Amino acid sequence: MSTLVGLRRDGAAICFTWQDGVEACLMPRALRVVCPCAHCVSEVTGRRLLDPATVPDDLGLVDMQPVGNYAYRLLFDDGHDSGIFRLELLHEMSRAADGSAS
Ligand SMILES: [Zn+2]
Repeated sequence: MSTLVGLRRDGAAICFTWQDGVEACLMPRALRVVCPCAHCVSEVTGRRLLDPATVPDDLGLVDMQPVGNYAYRLLFDDGHDSGIFRLELLHEMSRAADGSAS
């Protein structure tokens, strides 16, 4: 797994820079709809409970708090703050969004 070496805000987006050269800015909404918490995904069936249509396009991010050295807790401005986003997931999303990565 790659190490997160940079984290900054760019307007509403959150920009991630990884040790392996992957760099991408993600919108809060893109993160919110993949939130892995128990409110958004059934722990029993793994089924996604959150309907993406209910998430506004202009959803904002209030804060990101490190959880140990493996994840970040994301606080969205819709009041949702129970999502723990593992670095693996953030890296995967960054890589998918990084057009310059080979
Ligand atoms: Zn959630």
